[in-house]
Amino acid sequence: MNTRSISFRLVAGYAALLTGIFALLCALLYLDLRYFLENDLLKSQERRARQIASALLAHAPQTGEAYVASQVKDWYEPEVNNRFIRITRGDGTVMYLSGAPKDGGFTPADVPRLSLARLRGESARRLKLADGKTLLVAVLRYPLTAQSSYLVEFGVPLAPVQTMLDHLFLQLVWGLPLAVAVITAGGYWLVRRALTPVQHITRAAEQITHHNLSERLPVSHSGDELAQLSVALNRMIARLDDAFQNSKRFVADASHELRTPLTVLRGELENLMEDARLDAEVRERAASLLEEAMHLSRIVEQLFTLSRLDAGEAQTDWARLDLAELARSTAEQMSLLAEDKGIAITCDANQPAPVEGDRVRLKQVVVNLLDNAIKYTPDNGAIQLRVRAVNSHVLMEVEDNGIGIPPAALPHVFDRFFRVDRSRSADSESAGLGLAIVKSICTAHGATVEAQSKPATGSRFRVELPLAKP
Ligand code: ADP
Repeated sequence: MNTRSISFRLVAGYAALLTGIFALLCALLYLDLRYFLENDLLKSQERRARQIASALLAHAPQTGEAYVASQVKDWYEPEVNNRFIRITRGDGTVMYLSGAPKDGGFTPADVPRLSLARLRGESARRLKLADGKTLLVAVLRYPLTAQSSYLVEFGVPLAPVQTMLDHLFLQLVWGLPLAVAVITAGGYWLVRRALTPVQHITRAAEQITHHNLSERLPVSHSGDELAQLSVALNRMIARLDDAFQNSKRFVADASHELRTPLTVLRGELENLMEDARLDAEVRERAASLLEEAMHLSRIVEQLFTLSRLDAGEAQTDWARLDLAELARSTAEQMSLLAEDKGIAITCDANQPAPVEGDRVRLKQVVVNLLDNAIKYTPDNGAIQLRVRAVNSHVLMEVEDNGIGIPPAALPHVFDRFFRVDRSRSADSESAGLGLAIVKSICTAHGATVEAQSKPATGSRFRVELPLAKP
């Protein structure tokens, strides 16, 4: 799981917030209920204590204490109702003490006594008994005359309330993580669903390169922020497409327009060079200018070729041909150039390798690769040209034992106008367009081209073309 993703961070934050809110609500609910239940219980005990005082003890001098005791027992039935009742005289002697409750929850005789002197009016006591149980007791001091008074204690065990609260506590402790888990899972599902269009947009955007700028990102019909983002990105891609098309058109138009004047210029310079009436020095200068004009012509030709390939030139000369035969004849033509440097070209292309394509363009691939191999291999080096059909492909490799290409430059050798290092180029005519043309021709033929190289050891260029169908 990606912990830095928006979905993870949203769900984690939302789960933490919910856990906090739920825990606070549960704690408030538990404490509030406990306060309410205990308070309510205590109030009813106080009411009963006041009842004993006003209805029975007030008349004790006339009715006698025995009558009061029997009435208390009859009215409240403390043993049956699990209640604790104790009436203490002002001198500390007990006038009435309820018997043991039916459930045996406590022993009335063991309930600690209260010092009468310290008590004023009413109070409540929470008594912890020896066995750990709690008794909630309302205490009332009832002054009968100036000399005599009574202390009425009316209590009930807290156990039933506590049992209920314990049960609630357990339910909350189990219910809270469960509720958080369910809400988190639901939240995760919702967030994933909401962010799915982002994944679609990302995947589509990854696919768009300068080769397919006419494609657009998917736009959902929801009209939400993501749909607006897709529309905005599509507008940006359209503007890029326009700019790209304009620059391509500019290169195509410029190279096309430059061809004719350059041809005229070359012709004029050739005429000047051969004009015997002119000074030798002037003719020498014309020769040097002609060399530059030819260099310029070559670059313009290469740019023109590239712009035609970019525009997807009409495949009128598309035919079935044997790449092995094409490679053999091209290698033979170029062997003269190689021999000048004492380099031997070994051609291993004896099996037929049928492909479909433009013969002129494919020949250009072989020429450019061999030309580079010759250019970047020192005198007396060796070049191998191999062509063979493998499964559904035709593989062509050009390998040399020349100066090689540094690893940092290798990924860029097919870029336009890229040259590893001007000082390495054997001639000043290299413009860094040869391999870019190779790549464009390969792309137009559904082929791939890749370079492997080790500096000072050599390079290998590998072209893989689809085998022509029988
Ligand atoms: P250039 O016209 O400069 O040769 P390319 O596009 O043909 O341009 O090649 C790009 C760069 O790749 C060259 O500048 C050269 O440094 C390097 N390169 C190409 N082929 C080879 C090779 N066989 N051996 C070493 N370096 C090469």
